[in-house]
Amino acid sequence: MTTKSPPSFIPFALPDIGDDEIAEVVDTLKSGWITTGPKTRRFEEDFTAFLGSSNGVETGLHSMAVNSATAGLHLALEALGIGPGDEVITTTHTFTATAEVVRYLGADVVLVDIDPATLCIDVAAVEAAITPRTKAVMPVHYAGLAADMTALLSLARRHGLKVVEDAAHALPTTCGGRLVGTLDSDVTVFSFYANKTMTTGEGGMVVTRDAALAQRIQVMRLHGINRDAFDRFTAKAPSWYYEVVAPGFKYNLTDIASAMGIHQLRRAPAFQRTRADIAARYDVAFADLPVITPPRPLPGDTHAWHLYVLRLTDDAKLTRDEMIEGLYAAGIGCSVHYIPLHLQPYWRDRYALTPDRFPHSQHAYERMLSLPLYTRMGPHEVQRVIDALRALLG
Ligand SMILES: *Cc1c(COP(=O)(O)O)cnc(C)c1O
Repeated sequence: MTTKSPPSFIPFALPDIGDDEIAEVVDTLKSGWITTGPKTRRFEEDFTAFLGSSNGVETGLHSMAVNSATAGLHLALEALGIGPGDEVITTTHTFTATAEVVRYLGADVVLVDIDPATLCIDVAAVEAAITPRTKAVMPVHYAGLAADMTALLSLARRHGLKVVEDAAHALPTTCGGRLVGTLDSDVTVFSFYANKTMTTGEGGMVVTRDAALAQRIQVMRLHGINRDAFDRFTAKAPSWYYEVVAPGFKYNLTDIASAMGIHQLRRAPAFQRTRADIAARYDVAFADLPVITPPRPLPGDTHAWHLYVLRLTDDAKLTRDEMIEGLYAAGIGCSVHYIPLHLQPYWRDRYALTPDRFPHSQHAYERMLSLPLYTRMGPHEVQRVIDALRALLG
């Protein structure tokens, strides 16, 4: 054959699973213990150490593995006592999982706009949305850039609100030099979904310093079985004995998944550096195009670079939809993060939401696209994305 084969498709995201992850999974499969057990305990201990070692202080953190970040967010709000009659404020510019867990508990979601400079929740909009029913606020560290936690935590403290961080994009992200997960919020939840900065296929980690919240989350993640009561009796009680103290959930993480997580976590700092290098290459390559490149972290802070989100300016000769079509035609996958919740039928109709109430999210949504950004991208693949984008917009 003399014809040149077309270049292979560059997907939007790909997991980066190494030989260590595979060997650990095989070891788990051969061990006879495949559900929650020793590997999950090790993954949780490693996670606490990972967060703690960063600033060299004893964090007093409890890390609890769960089978998704969605499950973790649900457990966090349940443990905080959120229920019917309560309101929880979050950003409209997020995945529906952030908000849906509030509805699981019969509470109401109050969506607010983003700060166009960071694409994270606008703290002034949070303040304006507080009512006597407000119980909690859920910031999202959008794309891996920390939300303004200093302002948000101070606002929450003044109004007696709980703070649950949706850190699905934020491993590792720092805020004022401290890793997300070690800030002064009530609970932080990470995601290990397949396209996140580290993965266990499906999975998540709930982190809190509060021993009572940790205790409730541990009980509720596995059928409401009280482990402490159980442990107290194990010396005397037969091995089949257990106590159910609440109608809990089935949210535990398997040892098969945790086996992957142990090794993905070790690689997380290197993953971050690779992602930051790709983002920096994109930034330079797009500097002269009619686009807004992603917001940068404050000096000294780390961006996890889960997503690389470009916004077209009004000078761009193509619309966002035409850009995505053009990139697909060039064999490049992209995505949009997110279709804001105020446009989604369920949220729009339940709360009678209109785009004019979320001008910054709406404006960004209409112009944004997320480019491929993953650690297995080679330099030539990054260059292909750059060339295709420049050809379309240049
Ligand atoms: C991925 C994601 C979630 C949900 O994570 P799962 O582990 O898939 O449940 C929640 N919030 C945001 C912002 C996400 O991107």
